[in-house]
Amino acid sequence: NGNVVPEEDRAENGGWRSGEADRVDLAEQSLLNKLIRHSLVRNRNQVEVLQRDPTSPLYSVKTFEELRLKPELLRGVYNMGFNRPSRIQENALPMMLAQPPQNLIAQSQSGTGKTAAFSLAMLSHVNPANKWTQCLCISPTYELALQIGQVIEQMGKFCPDVKLAYGIRGNRLERGVKLQEQIVIGTPGTVLDWCTKYKLIDPKKDHHVCAGRGRRDDRHTGSPQLTKDCQMLLFSATFEDSVWRFAEQVVSDPNIIRLKREEETLDTIKQFYVVCKGKEDKFTALCNLYGSLTIAQAMIFCRTRKMAAWLTANLSIEGHQVALLSGEMTVEQRAAVIERFRNGKEKVLITTNVCSRGIDVEQVSLVVNFDLPVDLDGNADNETYLHRIGRTGRFGRRGFAVNMVDSEHSMDIVHQIEMHFNRKITKLDTSNLEELE
Ligand code: ADP
Repeated sequence: NGNVVPEEDRAENGGWRSGEADRVDLAEQSLLNKLIRHSLVRNRNQVEVLQRDPTSPLYSVKTFEELRLKPELLRGVYNMGFNRPSRIQENALPMMLAQPPQNLIAQSQSGTGKTAAFSLAMLSHVNPANKWTQCLCISPTYELALQIGQVIEQMGKFCPDVKLAYGIRGNRLERGVKLQEQIVIGTPGTVLDWCTKYKLIDPKKDHHVCAGRGRRDDRHTGSPQLTKDCQMLLFSATFEDSVWRFAEQVVSDPNIIRLKREEETLDTIKQFYVVCKGKEDKFTALCNLYGSLTIAQAMIFCRTRKMAAWLTANLSIEGHQVALLSGEMTVEQRAAVIERFRNGKEKVLITTNVCSRGIDVEQVSLVVNFDLPVDLDGNADNETYLHRIGRTGRFGRRGFAVNMVDSEHSMDIVHQIEMHFNRKITKLDTSNLEELE
């Protein structure tokens, strides 16, 4: 209809994006979380376990010793600084290492120990004396494959006879020569080519594990013909219906484990709104707030990339130090910014929704909604609001949220949010900030 909105003007609320773009987003998010997370995310929620055979005794482990790993593998695990299995690992590892092998579909938020779990399972299952590929690990993206490979290499540090090959683009191998590496980690396209076109891997030969991480990829539908007794393990941080249907098609008779994400609440957050006349006025209010922002760390949310860029530029001109996290940056650039912010090197981070969705930066104590979160119909997007400013029980420190209001419509949105959460949002006078102290 000729009304093409330039990319930088589009709201980064995800609503207009195609499934494809979202899919990439989630894989990227998973990668970003891998790059910035140095330790396990603790979760107090119960693990939900659906056993394929409900009569077999449910068994979970509290120590890695109970798993009777090869000593060199146990050494690798401890060498990574792991003392005990994580929540999801307690239940998943015994199933993954059981004899005969069992299939598993597992879901838990990123950072809860899934990669470590299936890396351990693969390393534990391979027979280093056999010089052929015994485990295939499929990752949704190139970068994630590299990340997972690093984990396998680190954990397998004391298993020198176990070798790893990367089935990723650019890694060309000679046709017909069988791979000797026991583990192959790669992306769907290349790994499938290696199996079917180049016959580098014999999928019928003594396969123990086929571990997959992440999301459905259409190329997957032509998955290599694996033998019936091949163990299938599928891990994902999210499980919407389409992924779920796919998982159940591919993985026969699975055990299912789910770990619910800890829910954010607004209980420890003081919420305010500031009345402004327009963009410039919001900017002035923000400048007045700047001193309070930098007491701890703050995140400022804008609706579009263009607005985020404008705000960053203008705050910089005023001499304020701010960092920008925006959709046009590469994954590496974004990871670098998040890392600096996480380490406290940056105090104020300006971003859009899409960019920060799913990324946990724990120490933020003040969130500014420069633009309020709205859905495609212009109504309050309560879920996004909760994600932005809410806290999980584990970070239950006090926090503040400031909402910039510049029209009757945005005032109305604030009221909608107030009603939805049944929490008062108080008017704040930015020339008198005592309430924020
Ligand atoms: P996921 O795949 O669910 O995103 P990871 O396996 O990458 O999670 O684990 C997240 C972080 O926690 C990584 O830094 C990893 O080294 C660490 N980790 C994993 N398992 C344990 C454990 N049992 N004890 C301590 N740290 C762990």
